Amino acid sequence: MEQRGILYEGNVKRISLTDDEERVIIRYKDDATAFNNVKKAVIANKGVLNNKISAIVFEYLRDAGVENHYIATLGDRDQLCRRVEIIPLEVIVRNVIAGSMAKRLGIEEGTVPPNVIYDICYKADELGDPLINDHHAVALGIVTYDELHGIYDMAAKINGLLKSLFAEVGIMLVDFKVEFGRTKDGRIILADEVSPDTCRLWDMETNEKLDKDRFRRDLGHVIEAYEEVYGRLAGAERERNR
Ligand code: UDP
Repeated sequence: MEQRGILYEGNVKRISLTDDEERVIIRYKDDATAFNNVKKAVIANKGVLNNKISAIVFEYLRDAGVENHYIATLGDRDQLCRRVEIIPLEVIVRNVIAGSMAKRLGIEEGTVPPNVIYDICYKADELGDPLINDHHAVALGIVTYDELHGIYDMAAKINGLLKSLFAEVGIMLVDFKVEFGRTKDGRIILADEVSPDTCRLWDMETNEKLDKDRFRRDLGHVIEAYEEVYGRLAGAERERNR
């Protein structure tokens, strides 16, 4: 697969074109950003770990019937993916209250709600990715109501599957963010990444944070936490494939 110039370079990933117009190469960088790019750092080896973690998660989801853009791992930091048009929505799923929701509604972090909570945010850097609702998304012309229902159904299925994938290795899936993209033939599939950058992951026994909150909140041992997540998932994957 030949690389053919950069399609898009974001803060943490770079998307390159290939000689096949249906495929792109996604490079996971070591850069970390938080609070809408106000806080920035380079975390050595984070890209390598997120590439590996995302690959395990995407393969697991694909095997469970969740279509996604991942095709293959090409190297330490690179994965071959289907080219999609990203829908500018961050779909957030919450099993436990944390982060912005705890703050916004004055709920103690760690509270377990009786229901699963879905938020959508409009991906627009200049606006600071505002929280919106279904009607706003339709009014913005991003999705139709039918497409949104499909997206929520996929998010619910992904949540169920990821909760058990992580529970199997002693990790609680507190919340996560996913993005979806349109394929050339108009289907909406899971895309972007699933990693400790985009999920809150707490050790089930100690409640220790194993995710990007270690960077956001200056808790230290950021890369060690990502290594721990990768080590546990890789071990479980080896068991599954035996
Ligand atoms: N999240 C993300 N990218 C974003 C915003 C949120 O991956 O731009 C993830 C975040 O890591 C967490 C979940 O979505 O797992 C919920 O984040 P929240 O809304 O609490 O915002 P935050 O506290 O990260 O500002």
